[in-house]
Amino acid sequence: MARPDILIAGGGAAGFFAAIAAAESGTRVVLLEKSAGFLAKVRISGGGRCNVTHASFEPRELAECYPRGGRALIGPLGRFGPADTVDWFAARGVRLKTESDGRMFPVSNNSETIVSCLIGAAHGAGVEMRHSCGIRSVQRRGGGGFTIATDHGDTLHCDRLLLATGGCRAASMAGLAMGLGHSIQDPVPSLFTLQIETPWLRTLAGVAVRDAAISVPGTTLHERGPLLATHWGLSGPAVLRLSAWGARELHGLDHRFSLTVNWLPDLPADEIAKAFEAHRATQGARRVANIPPGQLPARLWEQIARAAGISTNARWSALTHSHQTRLATLLHRTVFPVTGKSLNKDEFVTCGGVRLTEVNFKTMESRICPGLFFAGELLDIDGITGGFNFQAAWTTGWIAGQSMAARP
Ligand SMILES: Cc1cc2nc3c(=O)[nH]c(=O)nc-3n(C[C@H](O)[C@H](O)[C@H](O)COP(=O)(O)OP(=O)(O)OC[C@H]3O[C@@H](n4cnc5c(N)ncnc54)[C@H](O)[C@@H]3O)c2cc1C
Repeated sequence: MARPDILIAGGGAAGFFAAIAAAESGTRVVLLEKSAGFLAKVRISGGGRCNVTHASFEPRELAECYPRGGRALIGPLGRFGPADTVDWFAARGVRLKTESDGRMFPVSNNSETIVSCLIGAAHGAGVEMRHSCGIRSVQRRGGGGFTIATDHGDTLHCDRLLLATGGCRAASMAGLAMGLGHSIQDPVPSLFTLQIETPWLRTLAGVAVRDAAISVPGTTLHERGPLLATHWGLSGPAVLRLSAWGARELHGLDHRFSLTVNWLPDLPADEIAKAFEAHRATQGARRVANIPPGQLPARLWEQIARAAGISTNARWSALTHSHQTRLATLLHRTVFPVTGKSLNKDEFVTCGGVRLTEVNFKTMESRICPGLFFAGELLDIDGITGGFNFQAAWTTGWIAGQSMAARP
C-alpha cells in the first residue's frame, strides 16, 4: 500500500464523513476499521431507521441539546449544521424527512439507505477502505507524521492521522489518544432508562403519561416531559434527558437514588383538593378508581389510588380525609427508589472521552500533537436522544476532513 496522506482510524459515522470530505478535496485517504463491517452503529441506529439529525437550525439552540460539549460545538455547528447534513445527503440522492418531534430520518425509513450512501460516496471519492484491520499502536515520527501498527502486524506511515474510534466505555479504550499525549475525561454511560422495582409501577408497562415532572432529591436534576412505564421501571423522553444531563452525578450515586414524580405538574394542589371535594359531593356513588384527575391514564390512577391505600371498589362518598390527603400527595410527589439503569432500545452513548480543551475546534486538530485530528464520540461530547449524536459526528468529521485536506 502506497503511503497515504491521511489515515483514518474508525469506520463509523465520523470516520466516513471525514474520509469523504478529505478525499473529495483530492487527498489520498485510507480508512481502517477494526471490526468486520463498516458503519455498524449507523446500521442499528434509530431502531433500524437511523435518526440522522434534528430539525434545529440555530447553532446556539442546538448546542443546548448537548449536556457535554455544547459550548465547543457552537462554532462548528455554524459551519456544518443540520441544514448542511440535509443538503449533503440530498446531493447524494438521499432525502430526509422530519417527524413531529423534530427528529429527521431517511424517507426510506431504513438505515441501510444511509449506510450505502456513505459507502458509495467514499468509493466515489477514492477512499481506500479496509475492514477487519484495527490500529494497534501509533508512534509520532521525528520529522512529522505517524507510524501505525495494525492488528495484522503491518506498518503504515501517514502525514495526518484522524482518530474517530467512537465512544469508550473505559478510559483504556482511548489508548491511542492517550499514547499520543492526550488525557481522557472519565467515561460514564449516558442515555439510559431507570430500573425501579416498585411492584405497582411494573404492572403499568406500556402506560405513557404525556407530561410529568421528575426530579432527584438532593441534586439540581429535574426534567419535564413524556414518561413511559416499562417492564423494568421508567423510560421516555423525560427520563432519557435526566440520564443525559445527570450522567456523571447519577454515576456517582451508583445509579441508586430516589426519583420524585409529579404526575400532574400543571394541576395545583388546591385544584386537586377542590376536584376531590366536588366528586364527594356530586359523584359520591361512583368508584374513586373510575374518575382520574386531569389527563391521567385510568390504569395509572387506579394504581396510585391503591398505593394510597384505597381499595379498587371504594366510592367517593366513603373517602376519608387522610386518604384524600395521601392521594393528593402521591399525585404530586410519588417517590420511587431507583435501583439501577437499563439501555434505551440498546442505544447508549458515552459521556467522557478526549478532553475538549486539548482540541482546536476550528480544525479538530490536537493542541498537543500536530497532525493528529479527532472526530465523533471519542471526544467528550454527547447529546440527548433525537439525532444530536450523529450530528456531532457529521459536524466534527466534516471539519476534520476539510482541515486535514487543507493542511500542507
Ligand atoms: C443502538 C444505538 C442506536 C443509536 N441510534 C442513534 C440515532 O438514531 N441517532 C443518533 O444521533 N445517535 C444514535 N446513537 C449514537 C450514535 O450511534 C453514535 O453517537 C455515533 O455512532 C458515533 O459515531 P462515531 O463515528 O464517533 O463512532 P462509532 O460509530 O462507534 O464508530 C467508531 C468505529 O471505530 C472502530 N474502531 C474502534 N477502535 C478502532 C481501532 N483501534 N482501529 C480501527 N477502528 C477502530 C469501531 O469498531 C467503530 O466502527 C445510537 C447508538 C446506539 C448504540
